[in-house]
Amino acid sequence: MRHDSPLMLPIAKVTQENSSVKTFWFDFALQSHPGQFVMLWIPGVDQKPFSIAYDDGRRFGLSIFAVGPHSKKLFDHAVGERVGVTGPYGNPFSVQKNRHYITVAGGYGAGPLGFLAERLEETCSTVDFCIGARTSDLLLFEKLAKKLSHVTVHVATDDGSRGHHGYVTDIVRELLEKKNKQKKDTILSACGPELMEKAVLNLANEFNVDCDISIERYMKCGVGICGQCCVDDSGIRLCTEGPVVNRKTANTIVEFGKYHRDKTGKKIDY
Ligand SMILES: Cc1cc2nc3c(=O)[nH]c(=O)nc-3n(C[C@H](O)[C@H](O)[C@H](O)COP(=O)(O)OP(=O)(O)OC[C@H]3O[C@@H](n4cnc5c(N)ncnc54)[C@H](O)[C@@H]3O)c2cc1C
Repeated sequence: MRHDSPLMLPIAKVTQENSSVKTFWFDFALQSHPGQFVMLWIPGVDQKPFSIAYDDGRRFGLSIFAVGPHSKKLFDHAVGERVGVTGPYGNPFSVQKNRHYITVAGGYGAGPLGFLAERLEETCSTVDFCIGARTSDLLLFEKLAKKLSHVTVHVATDDGSRGHHGYVTDIVRELLEKKNKQKKDTILSACGPELMEKAVLNLANEFNVDCDISIERYMKCGVGICGQCCVDDSGIRLCTEGPVVNRKTANTIVEFGKYHRDKTGKKIDY
């Protein structure tokens, strides 16, 4: 069920995921799907979208990186303090039976993909879980993914402090080359920095495999009314037709990997 009036939920627990990301837990049965998001409202500050990183049917968690006024204010909140939550919103990742998933995560993108990997356990699908970060301290959800028997974890860091020294997409290329014969079964799912996602889309096109990508845009309402997250030049609203789009739709978004818009609508190049 979608909640459009803010649920004023107390923060049940806060856990530190890595040097800069905390997970905020709420004891509420949100009944979300991997790739969906909530709008989190801090009265007097703003509301912002956050992907759901955990949802076990009884409680859910949001893994958040403190970067600006909203997220930094949230980091000042203590257990028991209330915030407003609406949602779950948006188009989720597809969860299919008997497929082989290659999930590709950068930064907090590992949150929704960790949630996806957990859900795939019920579908007899297998997962190559690829995570990239600038340095080993910033890797997310490696331990969680390693606990899942249907998942193989691959790690890449830009500085070589852990795993493959280089981009996470180098690992994806290698996996696709190995799996060339079974590629009909393969599906790529990506969430992370846009240039990483664009590289994943290029690989999906080159190897002709299915692909789901979660594309982030500045969102104000989250429910398809304000038009802030419309993308050129199809005009689809990423809060409702996305944030997860398939390969065909991603290929129609001409601004993908080139530019996005700030809250005033001004174009910002990648
Ligand atoms: C569908 C969707 C899902 C999202 N899921 C998450 C999530 O799971 N976890 C999460 O932490 N954020 C997530 N975000 C981003 C989040 O909504 C906010 O944009 C972010 O927290 C910054 O908000 P702010 O007001 O604190 O800072 P702002 O004032 O908006 O940003 C401050 C500065 O940081 C830059 N910035 C903004 N976001 C990031 C970032 N993530 N990394 C590095 N620099 C950034 C901005 O360009 C700006 O220069 C998601 C966004 C969307 C659209």
